[in-house]
Amino acid sequence: METNGYLDSLRPAGSKRSSKRDLIVNVFLRQEGHLTADDLFDLIRLEDNARSARPAGGPPDTTVPHDAARISRATVYRTLQWMVDAGIARKVDFGEGRFRFEHSYRHPRHFHLICKSCNQSFEFLSSDIESLLEEVAAARNFTARQSVLQIHGTCEACRTGRPAVAERGVTELLFARDALRIAIATERSGLEFYSRAARITRDARGRKIFEKLADEEKEHLGTLEARYRELLQQDPQLESRPTFLFFKGAANGLFAAGAERLANGVDDRQALMIGIKCERGSHRFFKRYGEKFEDSEGKKIFLEFADEERAHLELLIREYRSLVERQSRRRAPKNAKRKTRRQAATLS
Ligand SMILES: [Zn+2]
Ligand SMILES: [Zn+2]
Repeated sequence: METNGYLDSLRPAGSKRSSKRDLIVNVFLRQEGHLTADDLFDLIRLEDNARSARPAGGPPDTTVPHDAARISRATVYRTLQWMVDAGIARKVDFGEGRFRFEHSYRHPRHFHLICKSCNQSFEFLSSDIESLLEEVAAARNFTARQSVLQIHGTCEACRTGRPAVAERGVTELLFARDALRIAIATERSGLEFYSRAARITRDARGRKIFEKLADEEKEHLGTLEARYRELLQQDPQLESRPTFLFFKGAANGLFAAGAERLANGVDDRQALMIGIKCERGSHRFFKRYGEKFEDSEGKKIFLEFADEERAHLELLIREYRSLVERQSRRRAPKNAKRKTRRQAATLS
């Protein structure tokens, strides 16, 4: 993990480098999962023993400061607290009577499933739960700082005796995989929507726009699928690992509902308006969630996709305005301008 730049960005300007602290932070960032302060202290000890055990005359190890031996339990505890304050670590309480810590470097906020038999914890994220929590807080005029959601029980491996496909150590890959799956599903439903819209549109120019958008969705779909295949090469088991992102009300639902409305028989203007609503909803969805995530491949995927959806949205709005204008000119040449402006204004 390339963390040096990350650590430098967290250090306040002018503050001294502390080799002890850097060692503790580096060891901590290499761990996946949820560590107690004592787990971390043991790891620091191991690191130090390994360093001492190196044969004399061997190359000096420049990654480990030579005062590591003197790192006390209290220093580890203090550094953990410093990491929590600096946003490098998150403190989690699984009801065991002591805190655990997980790092937040390229690791999005999430919820936990906790197995009472093997004491393992599993991570997941759900946009539906997050929106619901936000809704509740807003309705109660409550400023939410942190929401904790935990599901306690028995994991599949403990229940069935079958070894589970581990999620350990690959959260970032899982996150990217799920972000891509959601973007691909949205792209597919967008493609279906625009193909259908192109078939039913009577206006020749509007049909061209829908065909163009269908072509663009097809091209983006190809790009996203290539990226997905690339990701799978990094981990042959990636496809079978458990779902991390649960997005039940994801943007693909918007396009699916839109395509259904097209089937009910709509005019050209309505078809464009439905497209605008779908693209706007999709753009908002990906931007909103993309901005929430910590820096990661998954975040990048969401934000890039949000940009693509915005480009589609702008194209559709331009087209809608032009259609309204052309139709008004045909109907009432005199008052057309003012009316057109009013109708166009309702869009922005
Ligand atoms: Zn278990
Ligand atoms: Zn966690």
